[in-house]
Amino acid sequence: MENLCPRPDCGAVLERQSNGEFDTWVCPKSHGFAATITELWGQLQDDEIRQLWDSAKNGQPSDLLSPGLRLPMVRVEVAIDDDEERNNAPADAPFVTLDVAYEEQFIWFDVGEYEQFTRDKANPEPTPEEQKQIRQIADQFVEAWAEEVKKRNHLGAAADKFANIVDPEGKLARGFGKAMPGKSSSSHE
Ligand SMILES: [Zn+2]
Repeated sequence: MENLCPRPDCGAVLERQSNGEFDTWVCPKSHGFAATITELWGQLQDDEIRQLWDSAKNGQPSDLLSPGLRLPMVRVEVAIDDDEERNNAPADAPFVTLDVAYEEQFIWFDVGEYEQFTRDKANPEPTPEEQKQIRQIADQFVEAWAEEVKKRNHLGAAADKFANIVDPEGKLARGFGKAMPGKSSSSHE
């Protein structure tokens, strides 16, 4: 499906652009770009996106038309602060007014609007509880690996027994040992 520039006086087909981690739909006449809510998660701060999305449910009608279905978009004001705590923007925080196509999950940025947002913050250090979980996963991994080694050693022991039965003098076993990776009877270990 083609997406069109939301400006009624434009309506040009938006061009897909990607820098590898952020996909946008750009107006070829430089009116701005649309981005889906999904794409924005990695780019803008989490609290701004939530604010944007929550207020879009009750946003004021906009004179822009949604990129896909050409339905009226809604205008929402988003206060911008520099942390990711929700609902704590100071009263005098700067805000940007954006147009949202709620059904299509598109946010439209006029030229210069996107640049006013502060960037997404890196995820914080894992909490002690999260570190414990990471530790547990690592331990489970080590256990599974130890179990695997045990099994292999067991196979190695079985192979030795088998070799003793079919080749008690060990003529073949020397060759067999070389073919068994990790078995200690090969001469170069
Ligand atoms: Zn346009």
